[in-house]
Amino acid sequence: MRYKLAMILISGLIWIPGNALGHGLDDVLERAADFLGGEQSLTALQQIEITSTGTRWVLDEGFEPGASRQGTFDMDLQWEVRKEQLRLDYDIETPSFGVTRSVIEVVNGADGFTDGQDGNFAPPGTFAMSSDRVESIKRHQRLLNPQVILRELLRDDGDARLRRHHHGLYDQIVIEDNVANITLFILRETGEISHLKTKTSDLLRRDVPLVITYSDWGFFGSGVKFPTQIEISLDGELVHREQRTAVRAGAELFLAEIFSIPDNLDAERDLQLQNRGNGHHQTLQSMAAFGFPQDGFRLNIASTEITPGVWFLGGTSHNSLAVVQSDGVVIVDAPLGPERSRAILDWVKEEIGSRVKNVVVSHHHVDHAAGVREMAGRWAGVVVHESVRDFWNDVFRNPSRILQDAIERKRSWRPYDVRITDYKELVVLEDDNTPVRAFPYEQTHSVDSVLVEAGGVIFVVDTYSPGNAPAPDVGRAIVEAVEAQGLTPSFIAGGHGTFITWADFLAGLPQ
Ligand SMILES: [Zn+2]
Repeated sequence: MRYKLAMILISGLIWIPGNALGHGLDDVLERAADFLGGEQSLTALQQIEITSTGTRWVLDEGFEPGASRQGTFDMDLQWEVRKEQLRLDYDIETPSFGVTRSVIEVVNGADGFTDGQDGNFAPPGTFAMSSDRVESIKRHQRLLNPQVILRELLRDDGDARLRRHHHGLYDQIVIEDNVANITLFILRETGEISHLKTKTSDLLRRDVPLVITYSDWGFFGSGVKFPTQIEISLDGELVHREQRTAVRAGAELFLAEIFSIPDNLDAERDLQLQNRGNGHHQTLQSMAAFGFPQDGFRLNIASTEITPGVWFLGGTSHNSLAVVQSDGVVIVDAPLGPERSRAILDWVKEEIGSRVKNVVVSHHHVDHAAGVREMAGRWAGVVVHESVRDFWNDVFRNPSRILQDAIERKRSWRPYDVRITDYKELVVLEDDNTPVRAFPYEQTHSVDSVLVEAGGVIFVVDTYSPGNAPAPDVGRAIVEAVEAQGLTPSFIAGGHGTFITWADFLAGLPQ
């Protein structure tokens, strides 16, 4: 924020409310509309078909924090812009998982469904889409298509304001928005929309800048110009590159039936999920493209006491371990987001009659760590690996105003008890009955992955999921690391999958 304020002072920016200088905004809108093919063609825009090919990166799912390349997509989009109806036909390749899959996403107003293989390892089928995914698709496509935003402005510019730099290359149109204001940068000389800036709530990093650049505009014979090259950067990292190979615009390109939702699908509209989808739209879209959709709150907790005081918290796609110590509970992993963390905190209160005093992070990946901030904001100390110290410093410092969490609410006075360790020595959260030990092992999943042991239970995340067969090298690495610590566990539990006896695990190792 401070940086932004300084920029404003340096550049001599002035604010001109749209209604106070209406013709100024109108001038800019007109120039942009002329560039795009004229106001008449734009406002007449009804149906759009776009064929594109692209590459997707996903934040904080690679070896180190940041964006890592996850795959490519071919997409056909059919969009009835007057009615919030979209049909997206995807072919997606995710080489790191050796998966090629096809999925169709259909959005019709507040409802939607998927048809095909929506996840890398999900069974194919036709499923109702949860409200968060619906909203994330609508917001994503809207931001990728500023000509549609311009169309909305031309039809009703009540929520737009104009900013004008004294010496800048651009006129800026600021569009008020429930998630975060959207600023369109329009080249003064030509009226071309060069880029867009807004903010989004990353599931883990929280409020971060989102910048979308558009280039190589073309008519494709459609009467309205579309950008051919589009890039999205999220918190400064490239996460999406799209090239359009064909565009059509018209009034009778397709029939309304292609957006019909099958009667047997019972999609429940949920306001909180809609807010989640709008706020986290980029995370939800990138995780869906990655083949691991993160739709829904996933609050169900199925708890099992594996050994005395050591609880397996399952019930959904991602698991945690809860270790009962004399002065509080240690949670290993806070996956999926603040909402599940709150469910875990409530479970600890109700089932154990205690509080969470520490959360140990198995590794920094967004799906397993997105609830850490919530626990930190509710008094839990956090144990993270030194290799990702800077990353966590940023994560804890970021605001979370778009979708509030506990740190955002307690920002002014909560000091964070973050324990940074290089794991050169065994990390032990001491207790007379059930100490918690965390230690690294040889793996290539992430720079900060550790194994955690408590009460004879080993907790392992992502490199191996009990219930499945371990990869030979991972299985060996786990055994070696556990033996090097002089531990003789009785069970092994996973961040995915379930828990099995250590004996069964050893017996299942490839010879
Ligand atoms: Zn992971």
